[in-house]
Amino acid sequence: MEMKYVPTTCPYCGTGCGFNLVVKDGKVVDTAPWHRAPVNQGKTCAKGNYAAEFVNSPDRLTTPLIKKDGTFVEASWDEAYALIVSKFKAYKPEEMACLASARVSNEENYLLQKFARAVLKTPHVDHCARLCHASTVAGLAAVFGSGAMTNSIEDISEAKCIFVIGSNTFEQHPLIGRRIMMARLNGVKVIVADPRFTPTAKQADLYLPFFSGTDVALLNGLMQHIIKNGWEDKEFIAKRTKDFDKLKEVVMKDTYSLENVAKVTGLPAADIATAAEWIAKAESSALLYSMGITQHTVGVDNVKSTANLQMITGNLGKRGAGVCALRGQNNVQGACDMGCLPNVYSGYQQVANSDLHKKMTEAWGCDIAEGKVGYTVTKMINVLADEPGTLKCMYVMGENPMISDPDLHHVEKGLKNLEFMVVQDIFLTETAELADVVLPGSCYAERDGTQTNTERRVQLWRKAQDAPGQAKPDWQIICELGAAMGYEKQFAFKSPEEIFNEVAKVTPSYGGMTYARLGAEGLHWPCPTAEHPGTPVLHKEKFGTPDGLGILTPIEWKQPAEVPDAEYPLLLTTGRCMWHWHTGTMTRRSESLEREEPTGWVEMNPEDAKALGIKDKEMIRAISRRGEINIGARVTKDIKKGVVFMPFHFKECAANILTNNALDPIASIPEYKACSVRIEKI
Ligand code: SF4
Repeated sequence: MEMKYVPTTCPYCGTGCGFNLVVKDGKVVDTAPWHRAPVNQGKTCAKGNYAAEFVNSPDRLTTPLIKKDGTFVEASWDEAYALIVSKFKAYKPEEMACLASARVSNEENYLLQKFARAVLKTPHVDHCARLCHASTVAGLAAVFGSGAMTNSIEDISEAKCIFVIGSNTFEQHPLIGRRIMMARLNGVKVIVADPRFTPTAKQADLYLPFFSGTDVALLNGLMQHIIKNGWEDKEFIAKRTKDFDKLKEVVMKDTYSLENVAKVTGLPAADIATAAEWIAKAESSALLYSMGITQHTVGVDNVKSTANLQMITGNLGKRGAGVCALRGQNNVQGACDMGCLPNVYSGYQQVANSDLHKKMTEAWGCDIAEGKVGYTVTKMINVLADEPGTLKCMYVMGENPMISDPDLHHVEKGLKNLEFMVVQDIFLTETAELADVVLPGSCYAERDGTQTNTERRVQLWRKAQDAPGQAKPDWQIICELGAAMGYEKQFAFKSPEEIFNEVAKVTPSYGGMTYARLGAEGLHWPCPTAEHPGTPVLHKEKFGTPDGLGILTPIEWKQPAEVPDAEYPLLLTTGRCMWHWHTGTMTRRSESLEREEPTGWVEMNPEDAKALGIKDKEMIRAISRRGEINIGARVTKDIKKGVVFMPFHFKECAANILTNNALDPIASIPEYKACSVRIEKI
């Protein structure tokens, strides 16, 4: 019996914990602590602990599948490639779109956007960052010149006050949540603002149960109280920022007085005042947020408001502070960095910039998609559903919009309007079931590569076993397809490391990185040269804006696109649970995790439940303007009256049948965190 331990990085959340894969006779059988892991020092949460269980699931795709007369039949790689090439060559570039993936490596994401732009010549490439942190990328880039988490995870331990808004960190980024808890034990003040009394909120010194969708009102109220009391950091504002007067004009309005903000948010005015004082008076205060901030029609406004608060209190460019945007999936940061967004090449180099278009054309050695901004994921679905014949063909790698996207009936209608869809994945997902060709890819344990966690740390994956059956590493599939399309030279890579070297060559923020330098610790971007040590804390001397100043942006509070009314009187907010990951493709095939939480539920306040005559655990019907589902009730005081919550992982009671496809006008992110529903007894 041969046993070995292969250190690698967790495939679930953006924390980027490391652990060992235990390999017995060539097969992954378990995980074990890796004490040198830089982010988590050997600890993992339950998802990481059981991350070996799905790897050799009998459900893994092991051979290409081609749909014939509505049924999938097994095919050879040659047959699958021949069919795909004949179809891809038959469409005009603007009729095709690609979805990259926050679950695959940087190298594979880089290759997919290169395939879209250089082979298909289409500008339409995006991925699920659109659904989680597109508002962060757009919002923070606009005010700081860089759309990423400003500080490192380690830094959070050095904060003197931690303000968590719209993040259930203990359940969704547990090893970051652990740092919050440890900091609190050391006397750090912790404030949590969330409509649900989450496990994170239960650890707080001050809990602010505000109504979902009132973030800007709360943040403006905090800023008004700080400025009224003269607690703002005048020196930082004068030296490092601009437009403070414009910001003041808005936040000092009577609308944002403690009393008025208390009414809008449903919070006691005294608690808002206390939070403002703790944040402003702390030597350093870190602000952590996640999808509670971003998934709104005002997602970009929310993000900019968090930046405003941190700038006026001088909490940027130093340790223990910052705007810590906690990215969702393991490699969603990397997929953005690699240019899997419709407006940028890798390293956020704008496609509309003619110099950069020329640079990429020369680097890739072929004509590429003209330098115009392509469709976002959400636009792709809207076009498919509402303008049939505009988009006709799609190549989807490792994404499952049939569970993850809002208004699932609309998504299904759109995807069914496609003439040809290729899905590359490790399981036959709900989206793959609609495909014409399915290609079996690899999971995180089956190839080398890199991923970039929420704190911009680029880390290595290491291959632990071969992919099952005929499944192949995703990078190899893209290279073979590229060659079959006539682009052999552009896709002549023999290893992920060779791809990474090309990434470093064309991407300034990754320019100084090599596999050898990444080693066990990884490196934080920007790391522009071979000597550069990486950048755990951004904006130390100046911001990335043209004049180096942070931009304070006046923002007025706006209501969500859909608010409760007589017909749909409850506000639905959606999210994740501790045991499952997104569309459940991996965690629902992990026995230990599925046993803990085998299906979904709707969380509702006892007063709302009593008014409807609903008892705990009773099956109910939840109805929105877009559809209805049957789901079990969980009656709990842990949620605010008037608000209900559902996790979105479960296809048998898919919360996204109900959610609203209303979009932020800048980031095109959907409003998952606020729509209106009615609940009925069955
Ligand atoms: Fe994996 Fe995130 Fe858990 Fe760490 S905290 S083990 S990265 S799921």
